[in-house]
Amino acid sequence: MIQTIGLSKAFHGAEVLKNINLQVAKSEIVVLLGPSGSGKSTLLRCLNGLEEPTGGAVELNGIRVDAAMKVREKRSRYREIRKHTGMVFQQFNLYPHKTALENVIEALLTVKKMPKHQAVQIGERLLERVGLAGKKDAYPSRLSGGQQQRVAIARALAMEPDIMLFDEPTSALDPELVGEVLDVMRELAKEGMTMMVVTHEMKFARQVANRIVFMDEGTIVEEAPPEAFFREPATERAKKFLNQLS
Ligand code: ADP
Ligand code: MG
Repeated sequence: MIQTIGLSKAFHGAEVLKNINLQVAKSEIVVLLGPSGSGKSTLLRCLNGLEEPTGGAVELNGIRVDAAMKVREKRSRYREIRKHTGMVFQQFNLYPHKTALENVIEALLTVKKMPKHQAVQIGERLLERVGLAGKKDAYPSRLSGGQQQRVAIARALAMEPDIMLFDEPTSALDPELVGEVLDVMRELAKEGMTMMVVTHEMKFARQVANRIVFMDEGTIVEEAPPEAFFREPATERAKKFLNQLS
C-alpha cells in the first residue's frame, strides 16, 4: 500500500532523508520512532506531497511519484494520492469559523461536490464514530483539544482514505485528553486501516503497531515487531533512544 524506493530529501543541499526503503502492506500499522530532527515528519510529508522527494520514489496505492518526473506530473500524481490519503497533524488546523460538522463535510462539498444533505449524513455518522455526535454544531474554540483532534480525524476520514498518516497527533494535548484520541486510532486500526503513525506514546506503539521503524539522522536504523524492538533493540542508537524515554 505504501512504498518508498531509495527516497531522499534535501533542504538547501542538506540531506534529511537518505535512501529510505520502506514497504507497508494493506492494514498494517507502522509506528515511526526516532529522535527529534531524525526526519519522521519529512518522511510522512514526502508520502502525501507536502514535500517533494529530491531523489528516489514513493508509491501509494499504486500511484508512483518519482523525483525524476516533471514537476507538473508529480503534482498531478500527488493530487491523486491525496484523494486516498488522510493526514492528521499535531496542530488540528480546523477552520475556526466553521462548526465541527461543517469542518468534517467541507471537502465533501468542495472537492467531491456532494449534495449538502448527503454530506451532512456522512458527516454526522463520522462524528458519531469519533464519539462527538453531540458536538456537531460546536465551533472549535468550544471544543477541548482532544475533541478538536477527533474532529480532525473525522474530517480526514470523510474522504474515505485507504491510508492514514498521523504526525504526533497527541503531542499538543493535555495528558488527560490523549487517551480519547488514541482510542479512536485503535478503532481505526482494528477496522483494518493502513496507518503510519509518528508518536511518543510508547504504550500505543507497543499495543497497536505491527512494526516499529526507528529512524535517526535521516535513515532507517532498525525495523522490528514491537515486542522485539522494546525488549531488545538491535542497535546502540535505538537503545539510547529508549533509555532516554524512561
Ligand atoms: P522529525 O519529525 O523527526 O523531528 P523533521 O522531518 O521535522 O524531523 O526534520 C528533519 C530535518 O529536516 C531537521 O534537521 C529539520 O530541521 C529539517 N527540515 C525539516 N523541514 C525543513 C524545511 N522546510 N526547510 C529546511 N529544513 C527542514
Ligand atoms: Mg516531526
